[in-house]
Amino acid sequence: MQDCIFCKIIKGEIPSSKVYEDKHVFAFLDIAPVNKGHVLVVPKNHSLDFSDMADEDIKAVFVAAKKIANAVMKGTGAQGYNLGMNNKKAAGQLVMHSHLHIIPRFDDDGLKHWPAKKYTEGEAEKVKDVIIKQISI
Ligand code: 5GP
Ligand code: ZN
Repeated sequence: MQDCIFCKIIKGEIPSSKVYEDKHVFAFLDIAPVNKGHVLVVPKNHSLDFSDMADEDIKAVFVAAKKIANAVMKGTGAQGYNLGMNNKKAAGQLVMHSHLHIIPRFDDDGLKHWPAKKYTEGEAEKVKDVIIKQISI
């Protein structure tokens, strides 16, 4: 897509620190890393977010992410990593070309887990039902 910053990075029109490329996938360092070694894995086909991705791109991105995440761990000495995708504005998505974050994690990096809410009595059952109704096979 013409005005998409990640499409421009894939085409080499904007420089990036590339760590991996194959037929379907391009991966590069996030310019503002949560921890050093933070990688973005993107499908070469432009799609807006996870819901918009073709199944074959989902497969290609996650298969590549497995290789890259292991390399990030070994290369940076991280003890763990988070895989994450922000999907749509409400979830914090800033770049509207789907991308998977690989964030290396260290025992002492000081990052906190997400806050946890509680269900009221019977609420989980209702929430489960509204989701099940929307799942199409
Ligand atoms: P989002 O919030 O959309 O999931 O994350 C977008 C990510 O892209 C951010 O972490 C941001 O630092 C990164 N980013 C934005 N512009 C550029 C860029 O021009 N180059 C690189 N390497 N990363 C970028
Ligand atoms: Zn794009």
